[in-house]
Amino acid sequence: MSEIYDLAILGAGPAGITAAIYALRGKMNILWIDEKFATGGQITDTSEIDNYPGMPGVTGMDLGEAMGEHARRIGAEPVREKVRSLENLDQEVRTIRTKKHEYQARAVILALGAAHRKLMIPGEEELSGMGVSYCATCDGAFYKDRVVAVTGGGDVALEDAAFLARLCKKVYIIHRRDVFRGTKVLQDKIFRCENVEVIWDSVAEEILGESEVTGLRIRNIKTEEKRDLDVDGVFVAVGMEPDTGIVKGMVKLDEAGYICAGEDCVTSIPGVFAAGDIRTKPLRQVVTAVADGACAASSAMKYLDGLG
Ligand code: NAP
Repeated sequence: MSEIYDLAILGAGPAGITAAIYALRGKMNILWIDEKFATGGQITDTSEIDNYPGMPGVTGMDLGEAMGEHARRIGAEPVREKVRSLENLDQEVRTIRTKKHEYQARAVILALGAAHRKLMIPGEEELSGMGVSYCATCDGAFYKDRVVAVTGGGDVALEDAAFLARLCKKVYIIHRRDVFRGTKVLQDKIFRCENVEVIWDSVAEEILGESEVTGLRIRNIKTEEKRDLDVDGVFVAVGMEPDTGIVKGMVKLDEAGYICAGEDCVTSIPGVFAAGDIRTKPLRQVVTAVADGACAASSAMKYLDGLG
């Protein structure tokens, strides 16, 4: 019979890494699994993280690597596989299925994070990778001295715009309201950039181009006026959607699709825990994801000891 792990941890972002560290220190026998090669999850797409205590200005890639290395040092290394399905999630022994393997564990921490939300407009899918990007730090270098647009008004859009403004001739920010959602410090940074133009109350309607992006059609939602911007690239930064596809219909989700769980990361199914951006919470940051990883591992230990 195949091995039954104490705990399966799905995801190797900050929440999953921390859960793995805490679980190993708690002497649990863990299966840790993530499809990506680099550790750090979404932060590997971030140019600079300036609010993680003790590491001012660290790049997302470096922070992800440092966290992964910490786990490695105490003997945790994620299995590089994509989880295709979870079965018997409400039973004592749960099954984690990948393309090639079937694993079993007595408890599960879901730390799968969130994925980029799409604009769902004409041209977006067709020109993805040909001028449409969801990661400024990954693709920004291709747009040196060119003109780009960033859609969105949250932290990511502002960070992306600030990053691109250092490389590009001009950066438009297209935001659907007349006030940004992103933090004040990032707003100040943007308003100081001479080559950034903010277009308020507007939404992207169509990404133009045949084999590469040549423009962006926008619409002012107050005046209904439409206009085409000549841009070489469109960076989509309109938020994230929780990666809950494999647990839909199994654990309780909120209206936005996040897994309902409190600070203890306990979900609607005993023995199944949610940590990081995938769970309902007021603030999604690295520091709160890390805290969740620790809480989820602690809750899982209590559950396995018959105390939770
Ligand atoms: P976000 O905070 O949810 O912002 C998404 C932005 O996109 C909002 O401005 C929203 O507009 C806009 N939007 C959403 N759907 C749209 C649509 N269909 N069309 C046009 N615009 C749309 O997401 P995020 O910026 O990706 O950030 C995700 C989380 O990570 C946040 O909690 C953020 O604080 C955190 N984060 C933190 C840092 C940091 O602390 N350094 C860095 C990056 C990310 P409205 O404003 O009108 O809703």
